[in-house]
Order: sequence, then structure tokens, then C-alpha cells
Amino acid sequence: MESTIAAIATSPGESGIGIIRISGEESLNILNKIFYPASKNLAPKDNHRQLIYGHIKDEFGHIIDEVLAVYFPAPKTYTAEDVVEIDCHGGIVPLSNTLSLVLRCGANLAEPGEFTKRAFLNGRLDLTQAEAVIDVINSKTNSSFDVAMEQLRGRFSKEINEIRKEITDVLVDIAVNIDYPDEDIELILYDKLEKELRSIKKKVDYLIDSSDTGRILREGLNVAIIGRPNVGKSSLMNAMLRESRAIVTEIPGTTRDTIEELINVRGIPVNLIDTAGIRSTDDVIEQIGIDKSKKSLESADLVIFMIDLTSEISTEDYDILNQVDKSKLLILFNKADKTARISEADIASFAREVHYMITSVNDSKSVDEIENAIFEKAGGNLLLGKESETDKLAGSQKSNIVTNARHKNMLERAATSLGEAINAASGGMPLEFLEIDIRNAYEELGFITGDSVQDDVIDEVFSRFCLGK
Ligand code: GDP
Repeated sequence: MESTIAAIATSPGESGIGIIRISGEESLNILNKIFYPASKNLAPKDNHRQLIYGHIKDEFGHIIDEVLAVYFPAPKTYTAEDVVEIDCHGGIVPLSNTLSLVLRCGANLAEPGEFTKRAFLNGRLDLTQAEAVIDVINSKTNSSFDVAMEQLRGRFSKEINEIRKEITDVLVDIAVNIDYPDEDIELILYDKLEKELRSIKKKVDYLIDSSDTGRILREGLNVAIIGRPNVGKSSLMNAMLRESRAIVTEIPGTTRDTIEELINVRGIPVNLIDTAGIRSTDDVIEQIGIDKSKKSLESADLVIFMIDLTSEISTEDYDILNQVDKSKLLILFNKADKTARISEADIASFAREVHYMITSVNDSKSVDEIENAIFEKAGGNLLLGKESETDKLAGSQKSNIVTNARHKNMLERAATSLGEAINAASGGMPLEFLEIDIRNAYEELGFITGDSVQDDVIDEVFSRFCLGK
């Protein structure tokens, strides 16, 4: 028998209510020992799924808190076990005293993620759905939330299972031919297998490709803003924040440290990093900021490099241009509302291999265009509903987006195995060879949903949860 576990399910700190959650066979017994309903006719054991008003009292009859309690009998519960929830006042004293009492009555303190782990082990959620629970909790924008919610509802597992079903069909074909070989149809068979495997691999590759956008949805797109002092970095950042936390000033070099903000650009979480300039300086403090700027450039997904049109392109600008990977660079020639000192020819020659825009960040239209460019860089179009191969066939509109590094890793392994099977098919290798690679791909995809399981992976997945979930 699994032990009964308990934890505070709400976040620490003061709030209107705080919830103690208990799961396991002893849940109701424990509640009966400590909970005194205000009305004797309303015992939780007879009133399933109903909040009942009463008091929690300790072994000596002292009132610990005034609460609402509810009993959910198995199996239609979060964990698929008997579950009890107690709504206490949301303060640390009532919550920790109630929890201690529950533990004294026989429950064990739950580990992080243990409730969800039980839901998985009891077959109520598959592994991708369990992982989606954390993503729903941690999502930073509506788009991140929507993708996590789709995964929680099982859409991603459904696609994986469909791909696995196709793999099974191929394996059946192979098995029949191993058992009843027929030389005449062998050539046609290899052709057919290769075609089917390519079509399966295409779907897997498509999911892998979506993972760049997926990572961004989970962690945010890292956007560094760089440029010499006074070009308009803080102004851009402020315009995007629609508030003035970054210091906007006319004195070069005052933005000494990097300032980082999480913002929401059309549903994409964006970590916006306003860097210090990177000019040469003797000032030790400023140098620290400059070193930090260089680091942010390395870790950025997108580097917005601003140049002041009313000034000249300097050697420092060339330094920046040469230091940043051109594929992640967006140059803004800013202050277009003023008289420019940089000619169109100079712009074209400086930015010839790079995406650039002429902007005036004081103007909201310009800021809108910059936000569009950021959205595109983050693969926003994928979010807007570009169709996946499987979805096209199924007639639905939106593609699954892979947000989880573990899933991506397994998909890549499956793609490699499928690639090897395709080579074996086109090389006319014995069917047994193909079979091994195809089986590997099948198993690797199964690791995603938890269908093929490895205990260490499961422990790792659930250790990332918060307490009480
Ligand atoms: P930073 O040092 O790069 O962060 O530059 P700031 O954002 O502090 O801007 C320096 C000065 O330029 C401020 O007075 C801003 O109001 C002004 N500024 C920034 N962008 C524009 C623009 O597009 N047009 C005009 N006319 N002024 C701007």
C-alpha cells in the first residue's frame, strides 16, 4: 500500500486561504480525527465532494483553525487516490499547525511533485501531461499557457501515439515478410517501407523544428539591446515596458549595469536586456557593465543593435557589428525623426548582410514594427497556427509545439533511428536490420509519453515540481 501524503498546496506567504492537500487511503481517517463539522449531520464521509464548514482541533481539543474541508473518494481525483483538501486561513501559523497535526495523525510529508507523480503512476496522466502541469503553473504569457494547456489535455501525446501507431504498421509489414519471405515482392516492399519511413520521419522532424519556438515560449526570447550611449536603448526599452524603470537620460554611460525585464510581445515572453554601451573606458565600474553587456550578447537569441542616425557610424559600431553573430542581429538606425548624418548609402553598406530597420523609438508605430520583428524572430507564426503534417491529415488547424528539452531529445533520437532505417531500406539491407532501428524509434517515442519508462527519468521529471503539486 502506498503511504498517505500531505502538503501545503498553496504558495507560502499570507493570503486569504491556504490549502492542505492529503492523498492516499488514510486521508478520510485522518480528516475524521481532526475535523469537527459545525453541523453534526454534515460528515465528510457521507458528503463526498462537498465543502463542509467546521474546525480543526488538535489532540487536546485546542482549535487550530476554522476551515472548510472536502473529501474526494478515489478514483476520480487528482491522484486517482482518496483525496482530502482543507481550506485553512492563508497564514503560516494555521497552515503549518494543521499540516503538523495531519502528519502526527499518520501522513507523510509529500515530496515536490509527488501528487502529480501519483496521478502518473496511477495512469490518470501520461508523462507529457504530468510535465504540462508544471508548464501551466510556470507559464508567463497567454500563449505559453495555451500550449501547456493543450499538452495537459493530451494533444501532444495523441500525436506521438499516432506516429507510434504508424511505426507499428511498418513493423507488422516487416514481420510478415520475415516470416513469409517472397523474393518477387521484395523490391516493391523496400520501396514502400522507405516511403512510409520518410513520411514518419517528416512528422518527427517537424516536431523537432517547433522546439525552438517551444523553448522561447517556456523560457522567453532573450533580446539584448546594444549600442553606443545615447542612441535610444533605454527609450526603446521604456516604450516596450510602457513604464519608466530604465533610466532615460542624455548623459552617455549612465546606464551602467544591465537592466533586465520580462515583457510580453504579442504573447511571446521576452527577456529584454538593456546593456551598457561597449565603448572603451577607464572607469572601472563602467567596465563591469561593459563586460556584462558582452556576456548578454553571447546568450541572446536576438541582438537589437541601435545606431543614432544623427551621429556617425563609429569604429565602436564596427566593433559591435563584428562581435555579434549576424544571423541574430537586428540593426535599428534610430532617431529617423531628426536630420540624419548617416547617408542611405552608408546604411546599405554597413548593414549589407544584416536585417535592419529605420526607426524612431519615440514613435509608437516604430515600436510596433520592432515588436513585429521580435515576434517573427521568436517563430510567432508557428503559434498563430501553421499546420503540422499530422494535423493537415487530421484536418485540424494548429500544430503541436515541443516545449520540453526532454521531449526534443527523444524526438531527435527517434529521428536518428528512423534515418538509419531509411538508409538500410534504400541500401536493401536485411529486414532484420531495419527492424532494429524502427523498434528503437518506437521505444524512444514511448519515453516521451512514459509508455516506455525509465525510473530515473521519472524521478528527474517530478523533482522539478513545487511542493504540494
Ligand atoms: P541610451 O543611452 O542608448 O539608453 O539612450 P536613451 O534612451 O537614454 O536616449 C538618449 C536621448 O535620445 C533621450 O533624450 C531620448 O529621448 C532621445 N531619443 C531616443 N530615441 C529617440 C528618437 O527616436 N528620436 C528622438 N528625436 N530622440 C530620441
